[in-house]
This record gives sequence, structure tokens and C-alpha cells, in this order.
Amino acid sequence: MSTPPAPFNTTPNLPTSGEWFDEVDRETGKPGLRFKCTMCGNCCTGPEGYVNFSEDEGRAIAKRLKISVEEFNREYTKKTPSGPSLKEKQTQFGLDCIFLDREKVPGKAVCGIYEDRPAQCRTWPFWPWMLRGRREWERAKKTCPGIDTGPVIPPQKIRIQRANTPHDPDR
Ligand code: SF4
Ligand code: SF4
Repeated sequence: MSTPPAPFNTTPNLPTSGEWFDEVDRETGKPGLRFKCTMCGNCCTGPEGYVNFSEDEGRAIAKRLKISVEEFNREYTKKTPSGPSLKEKQTQFGLDCIFLDREKVPGKAVCGIYEDRPAQCRTWPFWPWMLRGRREWERAKKTCPGIDTGPVIPPQKIRIQRANTPHDPDR
């Protein structure tokens, strides 16, 4: 008798348990990590940094802005050692991502291209270095007040986010 095919699995290389964030959250009794974005904008500003994007992501942003890819590259991006990055603009908060909008919603900082933001932005705060251990998670918390608040994100969802991080942007 032949071995039946393995069931379809979209995340075949991800471990299923045994990491520190598999532990049960004390308050909710569920495994995982708590996170809810407060829209503070901290992760989109600060000292000079990179918001890298793929060619497909660049095309999607250009389409959203209703401009050509060439114009998008010229007006909104810069070259960095880790590839093309979105440009920044100087504000009282630091160097904001060029798409960070602090006017639209009073007291909040929102992404002006939210639905088409690059994977690097989508996977925050579950980048590989932040998930290395509780100490790194606590370090990330100093920037991101949404960490350890809100609903528990299940471990497998965290692993998928980590696996989708295009590179480990802080390391
Ligand atoms: S693209 Fe949006 S989410 Fe990403 S850094 Fe810029 S403003 Fe923030
Ligand atoms: S730093 Fe955290 S809470 Fe603030 S905008 Fe970014 S993800 Fe949201």
C-alpha cells in the first residue's frame, strides 16, 4: 500500500511548539503574545532607517498613488545597503516614513498606503529578532506601546508573520 499524500500545509517549515511565546499568557490563559496597535506611529519614525520593499510592492504602491513606477521610485524611494527603501521626511518626531500621516486622524499616526504597505511593515512586531526571547520582546516594547496589550495573537500566526518578514530589519 502506498503512503497517502501529506495534507496540504501552507507553512510546512514552521515549528509547531517549543518556543518561549508558546507559553500561556497569564491574564488570558491562552498561548501566544498580546498585541494591539495604538497608532502611535513610533515604528514608522525615529532616526534614519529603512523601509525596504519588493518590486511587486513598489508596483502596487505606484498603482495606488496613480503614478508610474518610475515616478514612484524617483519621488518616494531611496537606495540603501539593504535595497530600495521608502524615503523619510523630517518632522518634530524624527524622520517619519514619507507615507506616515499625522493629520488625517487627530492624535494618531496612520499609514497613508496601509493596504499596500510593504511586508516589512505588515510583519511588525513579529520580526525574527524580536521573537528571539522575552528580553528582545521587552526591548521592542520600549518602541511599540501596543506590545503586551490587546488580544492574544496565537503562536502559529506569530510564526507565519515571522516567516514572512523579508529580512530581519533591526539585525
Ligand atoms: S509604509 Fe506605512 S506602515 Fe510602513 S513605515 Fe511607512 S507609514 Fe509606516
Ligand atoms: S509602534 Fe506599535 S503601537 Fe505604535 S504604530 Fe507601530 S505597531 Fe502600532
